[in-house]
Amino acid sequence: MLKVGVFGVGHLGKYHLNNWKEIPEVSLVGFFDPNNDNAKEVEKIYGLKRFMDEEALIAACDIIDIVTPTQHHFPVCEMAIKMGKNVFVEKPMANTIEEGKAIVNMVKEANVKLQVGHVERFNPAYTALKNASLNPLFIEVHRLAQFNPRGTEVSVIFDLMIHDIDIILSIVKSDIKNMSASGVAVLTDTPDIANVRIEFNNGCVANLTSSRISMKKMRKIRLFQKDAYIGIDFLEKNTEIIKLKKPEDADTFSFDIETHQGTKTISIENPVIEDGNAIKAELSSFVHAIINNETPVVSEIDGFLAMEVAHQILEKISKSSPTLKDSTEANEPMPLED
Ligand code: NAD
Repeated sequence: MLKVGVFGVGHLGKYHLNNWKEIPEVSLVGFFDPNNDNAKEVEKIYGLKRFMDEEALIAACDIIDIVTPTQHHFPVCEMAIKMGKNVFVEKPMANTIEEGKAIVNMVKEANVKLQVGHVERFNPAYTALKNASLNPLFIEVHRLAQFNPRGTEVSVIFDLMIHDIDIILSIVKSDIKNMSASGVAVLTDTPDIANVRIEFNNGCVANLTSSRISMKKMRKIRLFQKDAYIGIDFLEKNTEIIKLKKPEDADTFSFDIETHQGTKTISIENPVIEDGNAIKAELSSFVHAIINNETPVVSEIDGFLAMEVAHQILEKISKSSPTLKDSTEANEPMPLED
C-alpha cells in the first residue's frame, strides 16, 4: 500500500480525497491545511488526521498530493522531493519558470515520480481518441467559464488555457515557430479573457480562446486535418470524427457528396465514450506509474513545457498591455491560522 498525504483540502482537495479513497493500492495518512474551517470539515467528514507539521506528514508518506493555491506548489514540491517522495501537483506546476526548472532538476536528482494535474488528458472524450491518428493542420479551441474568484490568483492563461496548451502540446509534436496573443483584464487585475495564435514548425496553427467571465460554459477542441475533422467536447463528454471514408474503414453512418472530382463518401463516427471519472483516472495512473516504474502520463517535463508556453503568452500580452499586473508574481504566502 502506498501512503498518501494531501496538502490543501479546499475545493479540489476534497475531490482528491474522495478519489484517493477509491484507489485500492493506496491508503490516506493525513492532510495539512492552514485553514481551520476546511481542516475541521475534513477531520469531521473524512475522519482523516490533520498534521500541524508539514515535514511530519511528508515523512509518513510515499506520495504527496499538492492541491494548494499555485504560489504554494513550489515550496511543498521542494520539501517533498528533497525528502525522496513522489509528488502529484495540481496545475500549473509552479508559479515561475525558475521554479519549474528547479522542480524538473530536483525530480531527476531525487529519482522520484512527479505528475501534474492536467486532468483533461484523462477526460473520456479525449481518451476515446487513443487509437485515432491525430495530425491536425488547424486547431480551434474554446474554453469558457463563468466567473469564480477561486483560481484568480493567476491569470486565465494559467487558470484555464494551460489545460488546452498541455493537450495541444501532447498532440502536435513540433516546436513553436511563432505566437501572437492578446488579453484583457476585466474583473481582476490579470487577463480574464485571452486569445492566442500558435504557429508550429510543422505548419499546424492553433487558435485558442479562453475566458473566465463568460455567461455560458464551453470546453471544446476542434481538430482539422487533411482527411478528417475531429471535435472533442470536454464538457459534454462527446467526440465526433467526420472524415472521407476509405474502403477499409468500419461500417459507420455515411453519406455521399458529389464534387467536381467525383463522388466522395463522408463518414461520421462517434467513438465510444467510457464512463469515467477523470480525477480518479489521473490519480490511479500516477499510482501505476510509481508501481510499474514508468514515466507518468503528464510528467514534470510536460508540466514545465505547458508552463513555459503559458509564460510566453503572458509576456506577449503584457507587452501589448503594459498596465496589466504580471500575474506570475508570487503572492504573499498565507500565514498559518492559530
Ligand atoms: P481552494 O482555495 O478551494 O483550496 C486551496 C486550499 O489550500 C485551501 O484550503 C487553503 O487553506 C490550502 N492551503 C493554502 N496554502 C497551503 C499550504 N501551504 N499547505 C497546505 N494547504 C494550503 O483552491 P482549489 O480550487 O481547490 O485549487 C487548488 C489548486 O488546484 C490550484 O493550484 C488550482 O489551480 C488547481 N485546480 C485545478 C483544477 C483542474 O482542473 N485540474 C481545477 C481547480 C483547481
